[in-house]
Amino acid sequence: GESAFSDVPLAPEPLVYAVMAACRQDPSPLKLNLGIGVYRTEEGKPFVLNVVRRAEELLVNDLSRDKEYLPITGIPEFNELSSKLILGVESSPAIKENRVTTVQCVAGCGSLRVGAEFLAKHYHQKSVYIPEPTYSNHPNFFSSVGLVVKTYRYYDLATHGLDLQGLLEDLSSAPAGSIVLLQACGHNPTGVDPTIQEWEQIRQLIRSNGLLPFFDSAYQGLVSGNLDADAQSVRLFVADGGESLIAQSYSKNIGLYGERVGALIIVCKTAEVAINVESQLKLVIRPMYSNPPIHGASIVTAILKDREMYNEWTSELKKMKERLVNIRQKLVNSLHDKGKSVNLGTPGDWSHIMRQVGMYSLSGLNQDQIAFMTKEYHIYMSSDG
Ligand code: PLP
Repeated sequence: GESAFSDVPLAPEPLVYAVMAACRQDPSPLKLNLGIGVYRTEEGKPFVLNVVRRAEELLVNDLSRDKEYLPITGIPEFNELSSKLILGVESSPAIKENRVTTVQCVAGCGSLRVGAEFLAKHYHQKSVYIPEPTYSNHPNFFSSVGLVVKTYRYYDLATHGLDLQGLLEDLSSAPAGSIVLLQACGHNPTGVDPTIQEWEQIRQLIRSNGLLPFFDSAYQGLVSGNLDADAQSVRLFVADGGESLIAQSYSKNIGLYGERVGALIIVCKTAEVAINVESQLKLVIRPMYSNPPIHGASIVTAILKDREMYNEWTSELKKMKERLVNIRQKLVNSLHDKGKSVNLGTPGDWSHIMRQVGMYSLSGLNQDQIAFMTKEYHIYMSSDG
């Protein structure tokens, strides 16, 4: 008989996945996949941090460990260490005053989704402002729970830098209470972050207009090589005593992509509010996946709680960051024909690639140029450049 699903239409693949699929099918040994946000080795191979290998060995050899269910909110020690990592151990008034609720979630995406669903159920304002452009999955977390997604200007095409004026104008006209998604550092896909002075301007506007900041922190440590420096934007907003949500991901900065480790951190006005909020987060999580997985969060906990392993992690992070900067420099030098025996005569100014930070760069290449690079040189990247 006919399928119960015969009316189900074929959905298009998300664009990045289509690019990756095309790259997989390309038999050329020269092919290069630039369409996905993962840190790879010089040989283009997946990279596992040494400190992660060590932590996993510890876990395997610890026979006191079991596989029973975690609480709905995850490993308590993981949550405590996670909030301290992003908010600061010494500096955070919110932690001292017990105004923070932290729940282990399924990586950055899971944290964003749980936060979005909590807001849809319990927050009065339904509008969410996200940067234009931003991580392509961002609108989905909010639209899938019935929130209304709007954008604010972020990137200045002419300077390849921040459009601060546009950003401030757009947030000024957002209705009071609107949720504002901010990327804490290493903005995907532009590689453009506000300076600390610009963050302060953004903070003042958000607070004076009663907007609600929702930080996405997916690259802490990978931008400056320093975990505290990369948390400055978030800490500025927490220091003023106001409320914030933070989706924290360990996918990139500990290289735990497939382990799906992250946390949703909600900084509240009072300890009582924080308790109530956490009780509602449990009601969001329970019908979704009941409780989070153990392994990845155990790796992170082992690293964060041990001084020596923590230090090894930070030194590996610093090396990753330095290599990212070196790769940028090499690319820009090549495009500008610096220090090379053969001059390729590449037109244009590519210095913005050097000014941009973190794992991403918006190249400024258009769709036709990218299609040409794919066809002629087997270089795969998202069509927005
Ligand atoms: N947020 C941003 C800004 C990202 O760039 C990414 C992944 O690229 C994510 C969140 C998703 O991270 P996760 O793999 O931890 O879900």
